[in-house]
Amino acid sequence: MSLIQCPYCKSGNVKQTASGNSNSNYFEQLQRCISPAQMALLGARLAKKAGLSPAAGAAVGVVIGGVLVVVSQYCFEAYYNQADQYLCLGCRQHFAWAKP
Ligand SMILES: [Zn+2]
Repeated sequence: MSLIQCPYCKSGNVKQTASGNSNSNYFEQLQRCISPAQMALLGARLAKKAGLSPAAGAAVGVVIGGVLVVVSQYCFEAYYNQADQYLCLGCRQHFAWAKP
């Protein structure tokens, strides 16, 4: 019956896990990936290479990290707000399927 296919293995054996505004998990993960501390560290490292002071690099890193989070949040919401979340029972991958 279902026309929904796993984008990874093309299996139709999928289970809906959530629908609509269930993005909180994604953002938690994202913010863990792009934490200010990590961006500060990255910025400081880049600043060292560019010959700037680590403090300046850290500040730049935090700003860039914040922009990245906001931009990806916007892109994600634009697409995934009308999507349902599915779990493929074949390959255990999670994916989102936009409603028609
Ligand atoms: Zn699959």
